Amino acid sequence: MARAGKPAPALAAAGLAAIATLPGVGPQMSAKLAERGLETLQDLWFWLPRGYEDRTRLTPIRALQSGVAAQVEGTVQAVERGFRYRPQLKVALADESRGTLLMRFFHFRSQQANQFQPGTRVRAFGTPRPGQLGLEMVHPSYRVLGDEDAGLNDRLDPVYPQLEGVTPATLKRLIGEALKRLPGEAELELLPADIARALELPALREALLTLHRPPADADLEALQSGHHPAQRRLALEEMLAHQLSLRRQRIAMQKHAAVKLGASVRLAERLRASLPFALTAAQDRVFAEVRDDLAQPHPMLRLVQGDVGSGKTVVAALAALLAIDGGHQAALMAPTELLAEQHYNTLRAWLEPLDIHVAWLAGKVGGKARAAVLQAIANGEARLVVGTHALMQEGIVFHDLALAIVDEQHRFGVQQRLALRDKGRAGEDDASSRVPHQLVMTATPIPRTLAMAAYADLDVSVIDELPPGRTPVQTIVLTSERRPELVERIRAACAEGRQAYWVCTLIDESDEVIAQAAQGTYEALVAQLPELRIGLVHGRMAARDKQAAMLDFKAGRIDLLVATTVIEVGVDVPNASLMIIENAERLGLAQLHQLRGRVGRGATASACVLMYQSPLGQIARQRLETMRETSDGFRIAEKDLELRGPGELLGTRQTGLAAFRIADLARDADLLPQVQRIAGHLLKEDAACAERIVQRWVGGAARYASA
Ligand code: ADP
Ligand code: MG
Repeated sequence: MARAGKPAPALAAAGLAAIATLPGVGPQMSAKLAERGLETLQDLWFWLPRGYEDRTRLTPIRALQSGVAAQVEGTVQAVERGFRYRPQLKVALADESRGTLLMRFFHFRSQQANQFQPGTRVRAFGTPRPGQLGLEMVHPSYRVLGDEDAGLNDRLDPVYPQLEGVTPATLKRLIGEALKRLPGEAELELLPADIARALELPALREALLTLHRPPADADLEALQSGHHPAQRRLALEEMLAHQLSLRRQRIAMQKHAAVKLGASVRLAERLRASLPFALTAAQDRVFAEVRDDLAQPHPMLRLVQGDVGSGKTVVAALAALLAIDGGHQAALMAPTELLAEQHYNTLRAWLEPLDIHVAWLAGKVGGKARAAVLQAIANGEARLVVGTHALMQEGIVFHDLALAIVDEQHRFGVQQRLALRDKGRAGEDDASSRVPHQLVMTATPIPRTLAMAAYADLDVSVIDELPPGRTPVQTIVLTSERRPELVERIRAACAEGRQAYWVCTLIDESDEVIAQAAQGTYEALVAQLPELRIGLVHGRMAARDKQAAMLDFKAGRIDLLVATTVIEVGVDVPNASLMIIENAERLGLAQLHQLRGRVGRGATASACVLMYQSPLGQIARQRLETMRETSDGFRIAEKDLELRGPGELLGTRQTGLAAFRIADLARDADLLPQVQRIAGHLLKEDAACAERIVQRWVGGAARYASA
């Protein structure tokens, strides 16, 4: 990547000055701020409030509304110090509106309690909630008014995200100092003037000042919800920075050479002919897209999206065969060992009859076996290498890697995805080095808008069709009280020769605790269903035992598999037609959809029972409803986006996106077309400007990606 220009000179002088240059900032304070990434004045300018408090006016106590934060002023009527369950202080306030409000404190010092005497005037800010005797505020911020006339604020009060070890007052002061050094509009603005003008949003300087110190008449509701034009101005620039950073990665990547593949399709044709099924039209189309890319002398960067069960693996296998047919190697990496192993078994069954050596590499492969695999990878004997993250480690040297396939890419970070690229063939110099083509696959369908932002560096193909003969999965939502009926249902299904999953979920627990819970469920089911062969898989088991249990299940030697969510991705056992998910209310939509995708893979009618623990929260109820209503991954993703927001949808590992500070892709999606347009323009016309914008917003995060 061209090391484009330095920051604009004025910014270097003002914005990039260290926070330590502000009055009263010692080394200790600097260090604390640096821990949170706050190093320069510019970092403080862009450290925006997470909310606002309106202390510009007083609300009559009688007009208070439950749940709506407000400021009141009143006279203390009564004070009570009590010790019900725990010490507490109750102070009743009344004002001219003849309303009464109770302030309640659980943590307080005697001195604090003593300031409240009947007759004292107090101004308090808080969120009133219904209490036993009308509205009350718990731990409001307040101040006791003296004789002097205390004026009201003329601006909304910003509330900043908390920083450990820095008091809110100090942080406010520092931001205030930094803002005093905010340069003029012309110096601050990075966008070319004509583009900035065309945005029809406030100028950057004005936007920052508005957000740090909104005037009393600012639209508080818009500010609180992130819809204020000042916020949109910043969100747009932030999204632009990410878009630019991804697209620059792509441009840089495509400058590398890659080997042209596809001169012979003999092996691919032989695999197709040997499959027990014909490709769907969608698989055919996507494979053709991949084949076109592979024929180019620069690396393919393609994402294949396809719902659970749409048949991505076979497309990957066909692509791998194009590489192998040309005398090169291919690698397929999966996020879990279970999934990688399953791919290994599938691909071996498909490719070994074609005399292709498929190798297996996971972290746990050690000793002599490892040495042998590494050698086969290095001397080219291994034509396709399947494995986990272990594939990316240093010391794994490919003989001639031409295609890197990453399955379930949302489970990997961008960084990990890029690491495989470096496994290409090193040449004497840049010109003779080659990077592998990249094919990434995901079963997490994401809405189009989000895809535009998240995968700006990739071309996207969609397998939008399921293989024929699948019967839709019936989804049933039940309370856990009906567990005994489910046990009977499993008994009946297995008596007919079908197989079932019982999925145990616990969120935010250690592997250990989850494993214990699964073990407990397993034992209970063994006791209740003595005639069934029951297996168990969880994350704490040895890989060999896990694999043995999975193989037994796949081969029909086990009727019921008790499992944790380790089976979430990719596991493929077509005869399994019943799935029970315990505590389904704890899982997100994407995860539920993935799990449910484990059934309905054969011709038998399948069912998925979502068992929940009452009472159900509002969001959990909506999730389960959604699951019952649709099996369309894209609709589920839309709903997920609505319920959870994009950060979670893509997983925190999507480093590029999780890093959004201001923008919210769900809320600000309508800005994306504009963002794309501007990005395209800048990349063509003004690379230095693009660089400055990326530096401001993405900074170090983009550095690793520079190719
Ligand atoms: P996913 O897209 O979820 O990774 P898989 O590649 O695991 O899906 O495929 C799911 C199942 O469908 C596998 O058993 C696979 O062999 C089968 N399959 C794939 N393509 C077809 C097809 N065109 N017709 C019938 N079955 C297919
Ligand atoms: Mg898959």
